[in-house]
Parts: sequence; structure tokens; C-alpha cells
Amino acid sequence: MRICVVSYHSSPLTPVGSGKSGGMSIVIRSLYDRLAQFADIDIFVRGDAGVIEKGRRVKVIQVGQRDTRRFAEEIICRHNACHYDLMHTHYWSSGVVGLHAKPVLKIPWLHTLHTVEILKTVRQDRTRIEIEEEIMRSCDLVVSPTKQEALAIKSLYPDVRVIAIPHGVDTRRFTPSQNGHKNILFVGRVDPIKGIHFLIDALRHMKSDIGLTLVGGSPKDTGNFKSVQTYAAGLPVDFVGQVRHDRLSEYYSKTSMLVVPSHYESFGLVGLEAMASGRPVVGFSHTGLQETVGDDAGILVKMGARSLAGAIEILSRGYELRQRMGIIGRKKALAFDWSHIANKYKTTYERIIEK
Ligand code: UDP
Repeated sequence: MRICVVSYHSSPLTPVGSGKSGGMSIVIRSLYDRLAQFADIDIFVRGDAGVIEKGRRVKVIQVGQRDTRRFAEEIICRHNACHYDLMHTHYWSSGVVGLHAKPVLKIPWLHTLHTVEILKTVRQDRTRIEIEEEIMRSCDLVVSPTKQEALAIKSLYPDVRVIAIPHGVDTRRFTPSQNGHKNILFVGRVDPIKGIHFLIDALRHMKSDIGLTLVGGSPKDTGNFKSVQTYAAGLPVDFVGQVRHDRLSEYYSKTSMLVVPSHYESFGLVGLEAMASGRPVVGFSHTGLQETVGDDAGILVKMGARSLAGAIEILSRGYELRQRMGIIGRKKALAFDWSHIANKYKTTYERIIEK
């Protein structure tokens, strides 16, 4: 099997946790790393450094074209030389490349949105909603990380073919440890959609003195990062900045719980990483965390700073509860190990190629 992967928005090679590089890069790295057992994979990204071999069967092909049509032409050129069996595009901008490439390639096309603009609860972009609709209607299969999101897409666009395959986690990198800690943890890009202000307000509402470790975003960042620092002035918040993914397990193991205060979260990889690390998760119940965390690996509440503060305080006081939720979280996370998830993709790819 030869697979053409398109990641026009960001390269999976760039460090994750600031700017536009987040969960999608981790998904692309982890998934295709595992799928390389079964397939040859070319990942098309923007850049000028040519082709980088990431293992025996994975190549990152850097294309020096910003124009999505020209970018698609590079893919077509490669296809003429090596013939791909399937194309999988990630995020709407790669979907635009897919729209250009599809009529010439004539191979099955899968698309993962990562963020579904029409389902976002804040800052919607009308143009992007329309483009995403065109992509969903033109591709052969939309892959969504949760059943809830897949159903929402289906009810909005009944003709679109959509299936749910969850994202995964590396359960050998993220492992459980004793949880006698007091501080709480946030991990993610410092972006307005991540709702960090809810968490800062929650710190103000809490009766007990709990410190927050905030991982993500580069200290050099201006804009949102500086605003968050100003908003948190005088509170016990440790701004760690961006941490390499292979160093993150340390932060999960030194915390009592992970808090995910996002306005919108299609899946929330960080929740799964915390669960694999045996840490309970606090977040909002309308987000993708509902399907991973559920009601027994953490506390999910209605969106708001006070409800967030309440959940954090319950878990801070309840050592036993934290332990119990941590054990359940780890058990659940094992079912999401990337090796299982890659197998689901293998079957899906094979089926659609056969058809
Ligand atoms: N991450 C990281 N270093 C950081 C901050 C975040 O490696 O400093 C990783 C985090 O572990 C997770 C991903 O970035 O794997 C964020 O994914 P998530 O689904 O939570 O959010 P997204 O970025 O997709 O909105």
C-alpha cells in the first residue's frame, strides 16, 4: 500500500505546543510511524529542505509552493512516478489541495478535519465553513475522532460519508506514577480557543491555595501569551513555555490533575495523555473529552469558571478519588494505544482501496 498524506497547514517535524503546531502534528507523527509496518507513506508538507526520510518507509516531502494548486501539481507529479493507492488530507487547507488533486489522481480520498469550523463554539469563519463543506462533499470518506462529532457532521450533511476513529496515545511514553501532588496542570497551545482565562478565573474562585503549571507556547510569544500572563498576574501560575513532546511525561507525573478549559475541543489529545499517566482530567462536558474521559476518569462540567473551580476543589481534597479516577483513566487509555488505532486505520484504508 502506498499512501499520500497531505499536511499543508503545519509540518509534523516542527516542535509542537506553540503557534499553529499542536495535536495534529502528534497525530500525523504517531499514526504514520505505526502504519509504516504495513505501507509506504509520503507526507507532503510546505518547506524548502527537500525530502526527509523518517524511517525506512516514511518520507516527509517538503514542497516549496504556497499556492495550493501548484502544491497539488507536485503531488500529481509524484503520483505519476510511483502511484499512490490512497490520499489522506489533514485539516481544511490540505483539503483544498485535495480538491485540486482529486480529479487527476482518481484514487480514494480520506479527509480529517481536526477542527470542524461549523461546530466551533467561538470565532467561526463563514468562508472556511463553506470550504469545509465542499471538501466533505468531494472526498470519499471523512474521518472524525469522536462518534459525537461524526453524528453532528452527519446530521448537518446527510450525504457525507463519515466514520469515527479516535486519536491515540503512546501508553509507553505516558505511564502512571504515585499522585500525592497538589498543583494542577494545563498543557496546550496558548490560543484563545483553549479558554485559559476560565482556568485563571477558577484559581481566583478557589478557597484553597493551588498552583497552576502552564505548559505550552514559547516565552518569546507576544500577543495572547502576554495577555494571559497579565491576566494571571499575582496568581500562583508557573509559565513553563513550550516543552518537547518526549519530555512532557515528567509534567504529567508531577501534577495532581490536568485541566482542559477549552471552549472547543474536537478530541483533546492532552486528556488522553493525562489518563495514560494515571491523572484525572477536569474539563467541559460539551467537548470531545466526553468520549475519552467520560464520567469516571475525571470531572467534566458545564462551561464556566465557577464549575471548573468546583471540580478542581473536589479532586484536590479527594486523594482516594484521584487515585481511583487515575486507575480507570489508565485502563481506558490502554484501549487507545496508537498500535490499536493504527490497526483501525489499516482496515479502513484496505476497505476503501478494495472498493
Ligand atoms: N504539546 C507538546 N508540548 C507543549 C504543549 C503541547 O508536546 O508544550 C502537545 C500535547 O502533548 C498534545 C498536543 O500538543 O499532544 C496538543 O494536542 P490537543 O489535541 O490537546 O490540542 P490541539 O493543539 O490539537 O488543539
